[in-house]
Amino acid sequence: MSGCIFCRIAAGEIPAEVVKRGDGMLAFTDVNPQAPIHLLIIPTMHIGSLNDAKDVKVLGEMLGFARELAQEKGIATRGYRVVVNTNPDGGQTVFHLHLHLLGGRPMQWPPPDPLSAIAERGDVGLSFAVLHS
Ligand code: AMP
Repeated sequence: MSGCIFCRIAAGEIPAEVVKRGDGMLAFTDVNPQAPIHLLIIPTMHIGSLNDAKDVKVLGEMLGFARELAQEKGIATRGYRVVVNTNPDGGQTVFHLHLHLLGGRPMQWPPPDPLSAIAERGDVGLSFAVLHS
């Protein structure tokens, strides 16, 4: 789909650190990694989100691909996380279906709420001080 950044990566029009290619699938490094290993797995054909995946076989294939990658990257035994953010409340920002494969560090559950994480770091106080100086 024109204008879709992941379609453009799949077409080779935008550079990405591609780590694995499969049948109708591609994995590349996330540009803003949240773990020592953070890969994105996409179908090369445009599917907007999990809600739009009509062919559930694709979902199984993507999961299988993620599992293979976890084994190849040496994180399968210690563990890893696969995430599918879906639509705005799910935190989806790129509307081309993708799995996040995260590993190489222990994960927290539940994932920390971004606003509480900022408050705990003290950034909120800092912005307050800047706004009122
Ligand atoms: P989500 O919020 O689930 O839609 O995730 C989108 C992910 O795509 C984010 O983790 C971004 O860091 C990542 N991302 C956006 N643009 C690129 C890009 N050009 N190359 C690699 N990763 C990207």
